[in-house]
Amino acid sequence: MRRRRKGAAPKRALEDLPPLPGQAPMTQKKKPGEEVLIPPDLGQCQAEIPNGNTFMTFGGVPGLVRCKNKPTYIAHEPPRKDGKKQGSMSLCGSCLAVCSKQIPGVTFEEIKR
Ligand SMILES: [Zn+2]
Repeated sequence: MRRRRKGAAPKRALEDLPPLPGQAPMTQKKKPGEEVLIPPDLGQCQAEIPNGNTFMTFGGVPGLVRCKNKPTYIAHEPPRKDGKKQGSMSLCGSCLAVCSKQIPGVTFEEIKR
């Protein structure tokens, strides 16, 4: 176990720290126990797709990157057993096909432009 150095400041949550010079102030502060959902982004698909690197790729790290396509649908999470808010996210056509295979009970709504 690491001991705190004498006189060291106690650990604080990031949102309790004062903003740095030039940093935008936080517009919302999350209350304890409050659910904050990110609204669907209608400008870019919100799915994360593999970046194309594998453990065999030289000079590349496998991982996920955000899909750059324009979304055409909004996917809605099925009702939750714990009663929490249902999430939703924007998806492009190819990500929608993957999502409908992987998540049972998800519903889709077409984005009208
Ligand atoms: Zn996509």
